[in-house]
Amino acid sequence: MNAITQTAKKAAKDESLISGDTSSPLLKFFCDENPETGTVTQLADGVLWLRMPLPMAGLDHINLYIIRDGDGWAVVDTGIGSRESKGIWKSAFEGAMGGLPVTKVICTHLHPDHTGLAGWICDKFGAPLIMTRGEYFLCRLMAADTGQPAPEHALEFYRMAGLTETQIELYKARFGGFGKAITPMPVGYQRIMDGQSLTLGGRQWEIIVGSGHSPEHACLFSPELNLCLTGDQLLPNISSNVSVWPTEFEGNPLQDWIDSCQKLKAALPAGVLVGPAHGIPFTGAHRRLDKLVLHHEKALERLLDYCDTPKRAVDVYPVLFRRKINDGNRIMAVGESLAHLNCLLARGLIRRRFNDAGQYTYQRRSA
Ligand SMILES: [Zn+2]
Repeated sequence: MNAITQTAKKAAKDESLISGDTSSPLLKFFCDENPETGTVTQLADGVLWLRMPLPMAGLDHINLYIIRDGDGWAVVDTGIGSRESKGIWKSAFEGAMGGLPVTKVICTHLHPDHTGLAGWICDKFGAPLIMTRGEYFLCRLMAADTGQPAPEHALEFYRMAGLTETQIELYKARFGGFGKAITPMPVGYQRIMDGQSLTLGGRQWEIIVGSGHSPEHACLFSPELNLCLTGDQLLPNISSNVSVWPTEFEGNPLQDWIDSCQKLKAALPAGVLVGPAHGIPFTGAHRRLDKLVLHHEKALERLLDYCDTPKRAVDVYPVLFRRKINDGNRIMAVGESLAHLNCLLARGLIRRRFNDAGQYTYQRRSA
C-alpha cells in the first residue's frame, strides 16, 4: 500500500460527525481502502501506522503512529482504554514492533481515544508520557470528575443555552464518564511546547500546537520525512468538534480553530504527507485547511442571517448541522452552536440578551 491514490470519495464514506462529511476533492490518499482494525502499515521510513477500533457509532477507528526511536519505539496516541485496544497493542508489541520496548508515549491531546491507554503503556515499559501542559492537566482534571455529580454551574450553562430539564437530567446521568474510558494517567509528565523539537530515532520532529478542538493540541512534523502527524487538528473527511464547554463558557474556540488552520498552513509544505487520527493519510494539506476555514466561515454567514430574529443556541442547529440532533450528540451540538455564536459575538456582529425564561438569545446587531 505504497502508492498514493486519489480516492477521496471512498475514504470519506464511513466517517461523519455532526457537522457531516466535509471531504475535500483533490486530496490524494495513501491507500484506496480503510485498513482492517489491528492492521499495521509502514507509512514512512521508521514510521508505522496502527489502525485501532473505537466503540462509537459515528467514528469507528483511530489511527495511532509508532516511530522507531533507537532500540525501541515512540508511540503517538494510544486508543481508548478497553480490553480490545490492549489486545491489539499486545499483538503489535510482539509482532510489528519486534518485541522492542516503548521508549516514549506522546499524546496529541487529552481526548480518551488518544490518552486511553497512555498510563497502561507508560507503566508497562517505564516510558515517560509526553504532552503539552494544557492537554495533560485538563485530562487529569476531567478524569478526576469521574464519580462526581455534575456541578450546578454546568447545569445552569446548559439551561441558559436552552436545554430542557429532561435533557439536563440526561447530561447529569452521563457526567463524569471520561475517566471510565482511560486507564489512570501517570502522575507526572514531560512537557512539550509549540516551536520545540523532539528527537526520535535521530530525526527532529517539530511541535506545532493548535487550538479549538482541544486547548493545546500538539502536531508532530518531520521535515526530513515530509510527514506531519496531526491528531484531530487536521482530518481529511470530517470537521473536528469545536465546542464551548462549561469550564470556559465565554471562550471563542472557533476563532482559535480558524487561526490554527492558518498557522498549520503556514508551517507545513504543500506536499506534506499528513497522518491524521481519523481517516486515511493524505497529501493536500493546504487545500484541506482552506476548505475547513471556508466551511466554518460559511456556517457563520448562515448563522448571522438566521439571527435576524432572536435565536437560542438550541434553535440554530438547522443552519449548522446536516445530521439530526438526538440524545447521543446533543451536548456536542449545543457546544458547537455556542462556538459559532461566541465567534459572531466576539466579531461584534450579534448581541446577546436574556429572554423571559432566563435563556440567552442572540440577534444580529443592526447596522
Ligand atoms: Zn479529539
